[in-house]
Amino acid sequence: MPSGRPEARNSWIGKRYKQLAVKRNQVLEVEALTKTYLSGNRELRVLGEVSFSLEAGDTCSIIGPSGSGKTTLLGLCAGLDRPSSGRVVLNGIDLGRLSEEELARVRSQYVGFVFQTFQLIATLTAIENVMVPAELRSERAPHERARELLTKVGLHDRLKHYPTQLSGGEQQRVALARAFVNRPQLLFADEPTGNLDMETSATVEELLFDLNQENGTTLILVTHNPELARRTSRTITLRGGEIVLDSPGSPDH
Ligand code: ADP
Ligand code: MG
Repeated sequence: MPSGRPEARNSWIGKRYKQLAVKRNQVLEVEALTKTYLSGNRELRVLGEVSFSLEAGDTCSIIGPSGSGKTTLLGLCAGLDRPSSGRVVLNGIDLGRLSEEELARVRSQYVGFVFQTFQLIATLTAIENVMVPAELRSERAPHERARELLTKVGLHDRLKHYPTQLSGGEQQRVALARAFVNRPQLLFADEPTGNLDMETSATVEELLFDLNQENGTTLILVTHNPELARRTSRTITLRGGEIVLDSPGSPDH
């Protein structure tokens, strides 16, 4: 700590305070994250020392070739999976210190997730699927909110359909509505427009960015869609499990 003149001390305190304020604003801190899978008796490292952080309201896309670790990284950041080493701090909470139960509570409170494979519950209708996260949190009027969201994604006449009665693109939109239902602070979406035609894709994009604008939701999107990547304020490019580029906007800009 600097000694001597009071103004020197004040400036030191000011600087320290500023650092803390910046830290407080960070909703996601990823530090030296690695993930290794055991394949037979060989270790396969799919993610190596990935670090980045995001502030509240940021929008970020993660791009890279198939197999580069995008889905793995997303799952670790959202607390769906545990890293081999490194840290994920979500809203100031170090996920590595939590039990499975605590982790589930943190996810339910702060996180929305759209899986690449949708992961809808086969025995529930579209509207019931969307209501699940809201019911887990005992939200008021989950039915109303679910209906409103399904209408927004153009599925007002599919509320009572089961997942097997829906096309791939329709299932994807149900999965999106489900991820939005609790107005999450962070929304992770794995190729959210991957199965959609241009028109529906545009609707889903609007929904994502509306959520970001209206609620300050931090968006983290894995995408192969350059249009979508261009709309986010930051693009992280993965290759072989490492960040090879971290740039504002789309990497071709
Ligand atoms: P991306 O989403 O970029 O296509 P993934 O994160 O799904 O890539 O996968 C990265 C690599 O990790 C791939 O080579 C994949 O085969 C491997 N991988 C993913 N999950 C597992 C697992 N559960 N066990 C072993 N290897 C896995
Ligand atoms: Mg993937």
